[in-house]
Amino acid sequence: MTIHQQLYINGAWRTPLSPGLIDVLSASTEDVIGRIPESSPADVDQAAEAARQAFEGPWGETTAAERADWIEKLAGALKDRLKTVALTIAEEVGTPITMSASIQAGLPVMVTDSYAKLIREAKLEEEIGNSLIVREPVGVVGAITPWNYPLHQIMAKVAPALAAGCTVVLKPSEVAPMNAFLLAEACESIGLPAGVFNIVSGYGPVVGEAIATHPLVDMVSFTGSLRAGRRVMALAADTIKRVTLELGGKSANVILDDAPLDKAVSVGVKNAMLNSGQTCSAWTRMIVPRSRQDEAVEIARQTIAGLKVGDPLDPSTKLGPLVSAAQRARVEGYIAAGKSEGARLVAGGGRPAGLDRGYFVEPSVFADVQAKMTIAQEEIFGPILSILPYDTEQEAIAIANDSIYGLAGGVWSADAERALRVARKIRTGQVDINGGRFNALAPFGGYKQSGTGRELGRFGLEEYLQVKSIAR
Ligand code: NAD
Repeated sequence: MTIHQQLYINGAWRTPLSPGLIDVLSASTEDVIGRIPESSPADVDQAAEAARQAFEGPWGETTAAERADWIEKLAGALKDRLKTVALTIAEEVGTPITMSASIQAGLPVMVTDSYAKLIREAKLEEEIGNSLIVREPVGVVGAITPWNYPLHQIMAKVAPALAAGCTVVLKPSEVAPMNAFLLAEACESIGLPAGVFNIVSGYGPVVGEAIATHPLVDMVSFTGSLRAGRRVMALAADTIKRVTLELGGKSANVILDDAPLDKAVSVGVKNAMLNSGQTCSAWTRMIVPRSRQDEAVEIARQTIAGLKVGDPLDPSTKLGPLVSAAQRARVEGYIAAGKSEGARLVAGGGRPAGLDRGYFVEPSVFADVQAKMTIAQEEIFGPILSILPYDTEQEAIAIANDSIYGLAGGVWSADAERALRVARKIRTGQVDINGGRFNALAPFGGYKQSGTGRELGRFGLEEYLQVKSIAR
């Protein structure tokens, strides 16, 4: 058990101004595995002041090359902690250890490293006629992050913010915060200048809202639910902060009639089940030709049978538990809604046998789902796949776009031109054709109510820069 009683503010560990601690539970044993400070708005004041001072002080004077060096060092310090990060997130989130090592621990290192390179090569000045155009950092960034890929989501904000020359006040998720303290330790270990990175842990409505309204914070970068994102955007409006939001999704996997069904369905099922379905970009709606729905159901059943559910610390486990009791209750509510609205449950639907502790739910599949059903409209954030049949390509596209969300999606076809034509019609920020690989340099973000702004790569860096024109 690790107990953090202090916050990392202004380059030092400080006792918070309020005494409360928040328990952190293991997703698979339900035991308390750690505690973190339940901070107050007064702690946010201290962190914001430190971040402001650092921004207006030496950090604001650094060159892009110097910041690239710092970011490289930070990536190195995270790399030194790979095993600890992987184990920590396997416990607090329930991500199976093999995947935790690559995605939860490895990806943040890769993203951090990418920003050292990007800022080294960035063109921050250009001439337009008699004007010199300079790109300058936005200022103090408030980063508010969720629990599902916790360190990835943190580094997708912190790395570009530091690269741009901003300073950061981070409020990590209170559900999976232990990894963020490992990051603070990494910042301390490399001697990152005081105030450049600060952490204030606690609850969203208290600490998150204090960040979103703080007069010393110039920008809020939020990843989380639509509900909280709306609130953050409204609160940030008062001080006209720059706001980027990475919110939920209800992504469609459109399988066209000429697609290789085996691969399209099995890859699609695994995508939907990744991290027990707790993935914002998961393809939770599989859209299949009506004439091939039964075949698709059979392939989905077989794929699920091959996904071993169990202890996240066992290297052979493919699916762990959900993150919390609240999340499991929500997911079970959606399973009940699917049944009562007439969708056909073809796999799972209950709790796996023999796993009495931990927030486990069986990977589950509904077929004959209609676009208007609750399970086809709302983000479930659990291992639940909905299969929706269609009759024409046009109808498939219409179903894919019948959502308030627009985060991601897939298209499968034997004809690359046809797949691209359909991909262009899907109103989402990302589309993968025939299982196209994740690209950590490509922009990631949402259309519609999936958010505003982009993360990763060059587009992610631009969010933290503002433009000044100097006429002469
Ligand atoms: P959440 O919205 O409950 O919490 C996210 C963060 O916001 C947490 O740090 C939380 O404490 C804070 N928060 C909560 N209420 C707040 C408020 N009123 N003001 C300020 N901050 C507040 O989301 P979660 O349950 O942690 O994460 C799951 C959600 O995140 C899902 O909807 C998922 O789709 C979304 N998500 C989106 C992306 C993306 O990139 N689009 C990535 C991961 C997760």
